[in-house]
Amino acid sequence: MNVQSVSRHPKTAPDQAASLVVLSSISRFIDIFGDPWSVLLLRDVYLGVTRFEDFQKNLGITRQTLSNRLQTFGRHGILVKVAYQDRPARYEYRLTEKGRELADFALMIWVWQNRWAGSHSLLPRILRHRSCGYFLVPQMVCAECRSPLELADISVEAGPGLVEAPQLTGRGRRWAALETRREGTTSQNLLKGTYVIGDRWSNLILAGVLLGIRSFDAMVSVLGISTNILSHRLKICVEVGLLAEPTYNADSRAYDYGLTRMSRELLPLFLSISEWSDKWLRPEGVALPHWRHRLCGHRLVPQVTGRCCGEPVRLSDVRFQQAPDPDAT
Ligand SMILES: [Zn+2]
Ligand SMILES: [Zn+2]
Repeated sequence: MNVQSVSRHPKTAPDQAASLVVLSSISRFIDIFGDPWSVLLLRDVYLGVTRFEDFQKNLGITRQTLSNRLQTFGRHGILVKVAYQDRPARYEYRLTEKGRELADFALMIWVWQNRWAGSHSLLPRILRHRSCGYFLVPQMVCAECRSPLELADISVEAGPGLVEAPQLTGRGRRWAALETRREGTTSQNLLKGTYVIGDRWSNLILAGVLLGIRSFDAMVSVLGISTNILSHRLKICVEVGLLAEPTYNADSRAYDYGLTRMSRELLPLFLSISEWSDKWLRPEGVALPHWRHRLCGHRLVPQVTGRCCGEPVRLSDVRFQQAPDPDAT
């Protein structure tokens, strides 16, 4: 991915300003979803669960934690609480339009986890595309030329409104909860599957590496992360195969962390996050990043289509399945 220079910003190095715009957008998203419980709750919502007791049973989560997460989703307008019965009063949680538009994110998590967490994936194993009847493997393409998106074909620049690169702010990481709960069964694969989605700093580090922020010093300066937290996260990312061991870069005279296939394939996930966050969470006055698909030269609008038929995937067309049908196509 090429980060084109931005000359307006006085303080930040030009090639970092565009990255900061994207990272701050991802960071706002992580403020809501940077926690494995939130991602698993969203999974259940998409699988059609609507009631408190059912969420609790599926997730094995305390009432308090579940209540907090549902409130967070409610506060951000992702779910709405609706009474479905009067006496006694009973409620269910339904997706709003904002919540339904997380479908690309949910589908891209599915693709990545199914590929890299394998049988340890906490998501349904099989999707079917109702409209064509085949197995659904969603893919992210350029809406203009319909080519699948590759990192090398994409560039980003800060929008014209960028006066000052945004600061990355947010709460601390929260990932101990799920790890502890699953201690007995934690495996390398499960770790991979949940770690990347549920940890604030790992998300930002990996998104940064995809954007070309690859050395330890650059990460400290762009992400504003403390060196001990950064060392710890990098060590885990290398251990689980999300990053390659750093190699010396003679041009920048720094050791650069490299992408692996596993982290390269996070691109669609981060693009879906960035798209949704730019639409729904952008603070007033913050410039949007300009993505470009260099393969066709157009402004990049990511779109999720099915490999089955090449048609755009709508949530209502997706059917979830835990195991293959015997008469599957
Ligand atoms: Zn294109
Ligand atoms: Zn299809």
